[in-house]
Amino acid sequence: MTRTTPPRPVPVEELFPKLAALRGVTTRLHPRPGRPDASVSSVGDPLLWPADEPWPMCTEPHRRSRGYRVADIRQARRLLADAWARDRPTAAEGALLTELGRRHRVPDLTDTDPIPLIGLVQLYRRDIPGLMPGPDGCDLLQVLWCPYEAHGPSRQGLALHIRWRRADQVTAALDAPPQPVLVGFEGAVPEPCVLCPEQVVTYPYAGSLPTRLGARIDAWEEAEERKAERNGREDELVTYHHDLAIPQGCRVGGFPSWHTTDPHPMTCEACAAPMELLLTVASREWDGADGSWMPVEERDIAEHLRDLTPTKLTIGRDGLLNIFACPTAPGHPHRWSVQ
Ligand SMILES: [Zn+2]
Ligand SMILES: [Zn+2]
Repeated sequence: MTRTTPPRPVPVEELFPKLAALRGVTTRLHPRPGRPDASVSSVGDPLLWPADEPWPMCTEPHRRSRGYRVADIRQARRLLADAWARDRPTAAEGALLTELGRRHRVPDLTDTDPIPLIGLVQLYRRDIPGLMPGPDGCDLLQVLWCPYEAHGPSRQGLALHIRWRRADQVTAALDAPPQPVLVGFEGAVPEPCVLCPEQVVTYPYAGSLPTRLGARIDAWEEAEERKAERNGREDELVTYHHDLAIPQGCRVGGFPSWHTTDPHPMTCEACAAPMELLLTVASREWDGADGSWMPVEERDIAEHLRDLTPTKLTIGRDGLLNIFACPTAPGHPHRWSVQ
C-alpha cells in the first residue's frame, strides 16, 4: 500500500528563499486499518514482546473502577464502519451503539490495582526511514500508554512507557498481552493499523522561525487572507502553519508543532542537550474534507467514507503527542508533550 502527499499548494521556498536553509525531512507513517503481526511496524496491537518479560502496568493511584470495555469499543467501531459502508446506522444499530458506548463500573477495582498498558505503536528501524537509532544497537521502538488520563499533578496527564529493544533477541514472543478490564476513554484503544511510510519536506513551526522571516511569513499570510476574503474563497486559504510547514498525522522526525502552547525548549534531563523530535502520534491524519495533507490515493474516496482518524486514538483534545529523544545519547530518558 502506498500513500503519497500531494505537492504543496504554493512553492514556499520561492516565496521565502531563506527557508531553504531550514528545510528538514519528516516521515509520515500513514497508518491505515489492517492486520499487522508483531514482525512489522504498526499502530496498535500486536507488539513483539518477549514471553518471559513482564508486561508493563500502571500502578499510579487513580480511579480505574469506571470506564469502557475494550471489546465494546471494538464492536462499536466495526458496526459503525459496516453501517456507513452500506448507508448509515439503522435505528436498531443506533440503539446497540448507545449500549456499547455505555460506561461501566467494576467496584472491585481499587485505585492502585495494576492496569496493563496498551501498545500504541511499534517501529522497526528497517521499515521507517529517519527513525533515530536506539541505545546499544536497539532497532525496535515500542510505545505503550495507560488507558486513563489521570496522571501527574494535574491528574489529567498521560502515562507513557517507551521501550527500545533488539528484535533479534526476542526468541519466544508473548502470544496475548494482558488486557485492561476497563479503559478511561474510547480513544485510548488504537485500531490496529499497518503503516505506509513516506518521507516529505518540512519546515520549522512558525513560532520557532528567525524573527524577521517569521514576520515576513505573517505579512504574506495576512495579505493572502485579505485576498481570499475579497474573492469569497476563505476555504481555499493556504497558511504556512496548516499547509506548508509541518504535515499533520503520525510521523517520525522533523520539527515539532507547538500550536497549543508557545515553543518550549526540550532539553535532555541527563545531559542538557537540546532534544530532537523522535515521533509524533496524532489523533487526526488531516483536517477537513479537503485537507491539503490528504494523500492523492484517497482523493477519489467518497467524502463520508474518508477516514481522517484511522487509528481512532484521541490524544488530549483531538491533539497530538510529541516524543523527544536525546541526540547525543539515545539511552537518555525520553520526554514528551501533548499539543
Ligand atoms: Zn494509569
Ligand atoms: Zn542527553
